[in-house]
Amino acid sequence: MINSVLLLALVLFVLIYWRWSMIQHHIWKRKYIAQGLSRNDKAVLLKYMSIYRHMTDKDRASLERHIVWFLGEKRILGRDGLKVNRAMELVVAADACLLVLNKPWPLYPNVKEVLLYPSSYYVPQTSKDGAGLVNYHTSVRQGESWPGGTLVLSWHDVLEGNRLPGDGHNLVFHEFAHQLDQQTGQTNGTPALISREQYTHWAKVFQRAYSNLKSHVAYQMPHVIHSYGATNEAEFFAVVTETFIEKPAELKSYDPELFTLLCQYYQFNPSDWAKSF
Ligand SMILES: [Zn+2]
Repeated sequence: MINSVLLLALVLFVLIYWRWSMIQHHIWKRKYIAQGLSRNDKAVLLKYMSIYRHMTDKDRASLERHIVWFLGEKRILGRDGLKVNRAMELVVAADACLLVLNKPWPLYPNVKEVLLYPSSYYVPQTSKDGAGLVNYHTSVRQGESWPGGTLVLSWHDVLEGNRLPGDGHNLVFHEFAHQLDQQTGQTNGTPALISREQYTHWAKVFQRAYSNLKSHVAYQMPHVIHSYGATNEAEFFAVVTETFIEKPAELKSYDPELFTLLCQYYQFNPSDWAKSF
């Protein structure tokens, strides 16, 4: 009798473990689907997020669902005395969720919290010189994305990214693109893809585009993608994500193959929203 109960418990445990993401999705759906954004919440997004204003009703509804979920599952905490209010939470969540607009929950499974500083912040650092002496210094940052699931953002730069939607810079897009990259356990500019063919195609298009940017930067030639993307493959993915969303027409015209690759990965076409920037 006891053996049967134990066996049944074991089978149940395996079933729940195996289907956990589906069960969790169902629980979240029940919990969050009925909770929409309030009229005030939508007014905040209309005021601060230009892309939101230009989205189709379907995309906007999907983004709103994700925002409610994101704010229910992730923490946004103020640093250096910053009091985080609802408007700040909404803007950060909206930018973050835009990248995963057409992806199913759980979005950003590794992300636990966002630390929000009022503006750029100082990070103490150490480095060793050639003689082995340790130097202590500080570097100024606007944002960071840690593989452990913490993001750090300067609120001033979050606002600037939204105020100028067509300049190719958005701090939240940049740092959350790093999170998508880091989801695979590596930070190498290749996010999780579905098939071996997709990885092969990604490597081909991505490396060609990355080399192209590096050679432009080496010869100080202008490029649609910001020169910071030439730092390494991980930064290239984060910067090209910003370019893809904020300068879709320029990127498509310059490198249609890269643009199509990003449309396929992100499962949306930002040209649909950027016409009125
Ligand atoms: Zn970066």
